[in-house]
Amino acid sequence: MSNSEEQFKRYALKIRCLVHYGKGGKIQCCWRNCQVIDPDCLTLDHVEDDGNLNRQPSGRRRAGSSFYSWILARDFPEGIQVLCCNHQQLKEIRKRRQKQTLPEGSDAYKRGVNKGRIKAQ
Ligand SMILES: [Zn+2]
Repeated sequence: MSNSEEQFKRYALKIRCLVHYGKGGKIQCCWRNCQVIDPDCLTLDHVEDDGNLNRQPSGRRRAGSSFYSWILARDFPEGIQVLCCNHQQLKEIRKRRQKQTLPEGSDAYKRGVNKGRIKAQ
């Protein structure tokens, strides 16, 4: 297969994933009121940050086309959503901030740990 065929195949697979996990079955960021629909600005995100589910045998997290192939092989598992790059980053920033500001041992902290949002120390 030529390079451009390979690229096209990967892009088509990404589009399939974006349609499946996008807001209302469309290619769109799932963040509230976000209107981003450009596939080049959209990525897949683990809703509960349980990225451990799709680690490679080496322990590295699957990303990009490897992640899309993983999804296809498992017939589109649940727990994944489409986010634009900005909201992916915003989610990450808020997660870190929450981890820093919640007193360890508080109920909110424990809830975060239980849902996998805060990495237990
Ligand atoms: Zn967004």
